[in-house]
Amino acid sequence: MTQCLFCSILAGDTAGTFLHRDKLVAVFLDIHPVNLGHLLVVPLVHSTGLTDLPAATGSHMFAIAQRMAQAVKESGLPCEGVNFFLADGKVAMQEIMHVHLHVIPRVQGDGFGLRFAKNPACPSRAELESAAAQIGSHFVYGRP
Ligand SMILES: [Zn+2]
Repeated sequence: MTQCLFCSILAGDTAGTFLHRDKLVAVFLDIHPVNLGHLLVVPLVHSTGLTDLPAATGSHMFAIAQRMAQAVKESGLPCEGVNFFLADGKVAMQEIMHVHLHVIPRVQGDGFGLRFAKNPACPSRAELESAAAQIGSHFVYGRP
């Protein structure tokens, strides 16, 4: 048995309620859902996070999540809106270190949310430009 919970679910060693599986990803229901119908889009090949996730797999994860969101909306389960959520790294609230994209059906008053610092400082335009330059110098479109 593997140590990664999601690899174990994908291998059938741990129970999972699957909705979809193709050549790159599988979709199964979250056992601790925000709301019933909360599902996870998970690559079949273990990737810890965004850095080691092949770009084509990441694109496919989003495409499948988009279609799953539509299916949830049409399913009759309570769903007034949808959040996608992907946590990359423990500080970003990643709990299972096998990258996964949450598709979360939302209803009014369900209590799910993100917390922000009370009065976040607004950076100056110069700080925004500097940050953009730092990031932009590392951005390579089409990098795998
Ligand atoms: Zn894994």
